[in-house]
Amino acid sequence: MKTIDKIYINGEFITPQGTEYFNLISPTTNKKLGKVLLGNQKDAQNAIAAAKEAFKTFSKTTTEERIQYLQNIKVAIEKRKSEFIDVMVEEYGGTLQFATMSYDFMLKGFDSIIDLLNTYDFTKIMGESEVQMTPLGVVGIIIPWNSSNGFICSKLSTAIAAGCTSVIKPSEMSAQQTQLISECLHEAGLPKGVFNIVNGLGEIVGAEISRNPDISKISFTGSTNVGKIIAKEAVETMKRVTLELGGKSPNIILDDANLNQAIPLALIAAYMNNGQACIAGTRLLVPENSLNKVKELVKEIVTKTIVGDPKNATTAVGPMVNTKQYERVQSYIQIGINEGAEILIGGLGKPEGLEEGNFVKPTVFINVNNQMRIAREEIFGPVLSIITYKTEEEAIEIANDTTYGLQAYVSSSDEKRAHKVASQINAGRVQINGIGHDPMAPFGGFKQSGIGREFGTIGLEAYLEPKALIK
Ligand code: NAD
Repeated sequence: MKTIDKIYINGEFITPQGTEYFNLISPTTNKKLGKVLLGNQKDAQNAIAAAKEAFKTFSKTTTEERIQYLQNIKVAIEKRKSEFIDVMVEEYGGTLQFATMSYDFMLKGFDSIIDLLNTYDFTKIMGESEVQMTPLGVVGIIIPWNSSNGFICSKLSTAIAAGCTSVIKPSEMSAQQTQLISECLHEAGLPKGVFNIVNGLGEIVGAEISRNPDISKISFTGSTNVGKIIAKEAVETMKRVTLELGGKSPNIILDDANLNQAIPLALIAAYMNNGQACIAGTRLLVPENSLNKVKELVKEIVTKTIVGDPKNATTAVGPMVNTKQYERVQSYIQIGINEGAEILIGGLGKPEGLEEGNFVKPTVFINVNNQMRIAREEIFGPVLSIITYKTEEEAIEIANDTTYGLQAYVSSSDEKRAHKVASQINAGRVQINGIGHDPMAPFGGFKQSGIGREFGTIGLEAYLEPKALIK
């Protein structure tokens, strides 16, 4: 049983002033793993004050110094690979496969931001003027539980690259993962106050970060609802915001696609990270006359999909993060049934033998139309809706008929055709015949999937304020 009773402020692990404990529960067994002592508003204020003080000198560091700090962090994280993977599996229920991939991405992210720093010009000439790209100030980093350390690393490394200091509020459910990354960041030997980490509740610590006038920017990943609350608070003091929010990503299978490749890929896109992924391809758009073949393939693959203990190397779908999330997914499966959609495979209840954890049967609905709630709302679990279309134009129309626009997928045996379709989809990223991540390309959402972009030059510039010197 672990007790996490420290937060990280001004270069030190300290006991928070908050007195409330939050229980850490295993998603796989629902047994208690430990507890975390939560920070309060005063802790958040102290963290912000430390970051504000550190900004005075950190904002003046050279690119070389920042690169060195980023390298130090990478080295510290490299030393503890197995712990990073194990704690994600244990605390969050991410599968071993997914946790290993996340760790690799997290590490590679440091190389990308270092590469960018090596080429990025912080002083430019625009028109006849000199434009200085200056660090924005103290950044509030607020993140969800579904890839906690991955988000801390991508956001914090960009803040460091820009010369900003940070206050990080992870999800209270990720406390063990947070403890591990805090230890690595501490070991990296950054100047005190450059990063501060406060465990705590969203309505208390998160709300203070959103309101506090000494925070200049918020980089938030989480639900669209909370993103809206944060944006409203932030505008009072004109904080810059980058909001990475929810999604309901369409996956268009064109009529010339190789179904034997496209359908297995579609199921990976739908069920990645146990379906708890903002970029999950949860609306599968298939040509009407391919439906029978698609149904056959989907059934065959989902039957073979291993659901269970995330520690096992062959498990493809682990548990939902907590019982609340399990209940939420169950309620959406019930909504789908009530709306008249038909279950092709899966359905309500837990898979046999997995009654203790928050396991959901990977579920696929057919006879779905795009107006149903299961096709419009983010479920955040392994539930896929198959929607048929008659023409390519109709497929694009359905794909774009959503309030979201984070990611989309297109499969075709003709790359040019796939490219043409992809160009007509309103989403921040469109994956053509695959699932990949380009750390130099922007990531973020159209419409209610967010504001702004992360990664690459566009992501870095979101932490910088341009200043023109006009002679
Ligand atoms: P959430 O929005 O409930 O919480 C995210 C973070 O915000 C947590 O740290 C939480 O404590 C904090 N928070 C809650 N209320 C707050 C408030 N009033 N003020 C300030 N902070 C507050 O999201 P979640 O349930 O942790 O994660 C799932 C959601 O995250 C899904 O909607 C998913 O789509 C989204 N997500 C988006 C991306 C992306 O990159 N676009 C990636 C992963 C997850």
